[in-house]
Amino acid sequence: MLPKSEKVIIDRADFYQHKLTDPIENIPPRFESLRKKLPHILNEIRIAKKNVMKAKKLFMRSAMFNKFHVLTYPDNHPVKAYLKQVLRTVDEEILDQSMNRFLFYLNEMEQYFDGPLDKIIIATCSTTNDRYLHNTLCPMVFSMPLDSGNRIVIMADAFDVQPIPTTKLHLTALHEASHRSDSVDFILSPTTRDAGDACEFMDVIDEALLNQYAEFIDNNSFFLKAYGHSIGRELNTDNVPWPIFHELIKRDPMLKANIVMDNADFIAIMISDIANNVKFNHNYRRARRPVRDVTSVVSDFTVPLLFRLVCSEIEAWSTGY
Ligand SMILES: [Zn+2]
Repeated sequence: MLPKSEKVIIDRADFYQHKLTDPIENIPPRFESLRKKLPHILNEIRIAKKNVMKAKKLFMRSAMFNKFHVLTYPDNHPVKAYLKQVLRTVDEEILDQSMNRFLFYLNEMEQYFDGPLDKIIIATCSTTNDRYLHNTLCPMVFSMPLDSGNRIVIMADAFDVQPIPTTKLHLTALHEASHRSDSVDFILSPTTRDAGDACEFMDVIDEALLNQYAEFIDNNSFFLKAYGHSIGRELNTDNVPWPIFHELIKRDPMLKANIVMDNADFIAIMISDIANNVKFNHNYRRARRPVRDVTSVVSDFTVPLLFRLVCSEIEAWSTGY
């Protein structure tokens, strides 16, 4: 017999999923905590969408595609100036590729948020009688790469109790929306800092390369393939083992910049910074948080029961379509 708290999480009847577009009245009265926090969640998603729209508008205000479909922009373009500082480079080729990557994500995410938002799902298991028990292994928001419905699932209960005050739901939503356009979790940032500031991205990668402060870079096979394509070589995780990928990142500043521009956490922060016209180092704090257990953050195999339950439902939807 399971302890009462765990039984609550397992029982499907004690678990509720709310589509973003559903009226609040649909929430059964016993899930009152979700009823209370729904307006906040809706507002955070609205902020995420607004940030994408504002960043795109600002980007295109002084950029255009010429007749050869090449992106052109003045040297003092605000996003270019921002990326110059974030990436710590004046290399025109790197900056141009980064501008194109950033615009790619803005376009894709604009499309995501412009589409029907019933694909954003809010899950809860906190009922009147049984409160959700927080487990740090539970992702706060997640999406599944092969989900044909492009769903993003927000674990509503985790947001009340999560221990990192700087984690904001709208940033997490931007992170997940970027995954729908194949961004990668190379590095979960900040794992050791007070606030995820764009001025720290390069430091975070360097620390990861030196294996300092428990930062972590994931070796992603799709990314590696694309990188191989750009340098005219067939690359995969077999012929480029992790230590060699490490070396490549250290030696190739373009590759390092590409990692920044394709990293979901960084994309979310950059979009938010650009949209709100804040400096790349506006949030910088020197103090470091205690190092958190990175392996537990990135492991999808030891997630709590609620997460597994939602995943199995998504699989059922995906195969059912
Ligand atoms: Zn992610």
